[in-house]
Amino acid sequence: MNILVVGGAGYIGSHIVKQLIDSNHKVVVLDNLQTGHAKAVTEPAIFIKGNVKDKPLLRNLFTETSFDVVFHFAANSSVEESMKDPLLYFDNNVSGLITLLEVMNEFAVKTIIFSSTAAVYGDTSEKVITEDNETIPKNPYGESKRMMEKIIQWCHTAYDINYVVLRYFNVAGADLSGAIGEDHQPETHLIPIVLEVPLSKRDFITIFGNDYDTKDGTTVRDYVHVVDLANAHLLAMNYLLEGKESTIFNVGSSTGFSTLEIINKVEEYTQKKIPVKYGNRREGDPHSLIASSKKIESVLGWKPQYTDLNSIIDSVWKWHTTHPTGYENDV
Ligand code: UDP
Repeated sequence: MNILVVGGAGYIGSHIVKQLIDSNHKVVVLDNLQTGHAKAVTEPAIFIKGNVKDKPLLRNLFTETSFDVVFHFAANSSVEESMKDPLLYFDNNVSGLITLLEVMNEFAVKTIIFSSTAAVYGDTSEKVITEDNETIPKNPYGESKRMMEKIIQWCHTAYDINYVVLRYFNVAGADLSGAIGEDHQPETHLIPIVLEVPLSKRDFITIFGNDYDTKDGTTVRDYVHVVDLANAHLLAMNYLLEGKESTIFNVGSSTGFSTLEIINKVEEYTQKKIPVKYGNRREGDPHSLIASSKKIESVLGWKPQYTDLNSIIDSVWKWHTTHPTGYENDV
């Protein structure tokens, strides 16, 4: 298959690109490198530096290659940043997608796999969230993703663009080859931040709030291994190419860990004490997000292999100990 991966040099996109290449697909990556790394793109994928909002560039790419499928990962994804600068999120995320869909439609490319998020659900009283749960995003990041989902759904109705939307819960881990991993500057995600203490890059962790209505007062999240997530994308692609119905799937592990539990697990794994300070709640944070992944398991036959938190921590630890400065010094 000829596949365009928009945002394929980022953390999640690069892991999907690797699995696509390993499955012998022809991949073109478009990424503006705002948060991505050209070195994260597995060869022989073709890397093009550019913005998804650049319509002439997109038209050139679609003229050169007749794409069968498009994957979209090119979005800003920090809850905190989105609370401070919502227009950035609506502009980059929503208008970038519109440009991509316009060009897809122009070139009659009718298949898209879209990277969405559990942030579309907001605060919910449901312990385990299914795809039918109401969506009331609590921050502009989640709102922008929900808008993008709806735009894709209307494009399905109007132009027959077929889609799978994957709503990720908290993605963590690194490819087991050790060649690619998460490299954000600055890092904002919990697991890599916690590992920075035993890696001697920070002295303590600030827990954002300990007065939530959860088992120990800290926020609860559902952590899914990036390799399992990548596998879900390939299954979603094959499903659409078989002509099956466009739909939305949650992707998570169906298990919730509190922030404090994550810190304890990393302490156990590394045998190093991780000092903790309690800070204010982070604006826009829901108290608990745990996926029901029953639908993707039954419809796509997705079976996560790395459900043990230690396998996530182990892969992140390997990535960081072998790449102490991320991609910076990779050749
Ligand atoms: N968190 C924290 N301290 C940190 C980073 C994150 O307490 O230094 C909490 C954060 O408030 C959230 C959870 O850990 O409830 C997971 O945060 P992350 O940014 O990894 O993912 P999010 O759930 O926001 O997408």
